[in-house]
Amino acid sequence: MSGAVRVRVDRERCCGAGNCVVTAPEVFDQDDADGLVLLRRAEPPADAADRVRLAVELCPAGAITVAPRPVPERSSTP
Ligand code: SF4
Repeated sequence: MSGAVRVRVDRERCCGAGNCVVTAPEVFDQDDADGLVLLRRAEPPADAADRVRLAVELCPAGAITVAPRPVPERSSTP
């Protein structure tokens, strides 16, 4: 499955395992202070979507969610 996604993380659930950072480092980071996830890009490039979905599967805490990103409406005026 492909397509642009919107990503959310729940730092309350995160246990700092770091799988997401290894899987998609341009999207996720770990806070130097507490080791918990930081979201670098809530709307990553479409070519990162599959790795983001893999990060969702690999996260042991269920702290990452993704949703399809709505396609922006095109203006009909020039
Ligand atoms: S994989 Fe999940 S638990 Fe581990 S750092 Fe990322 S969000 Fe947190």
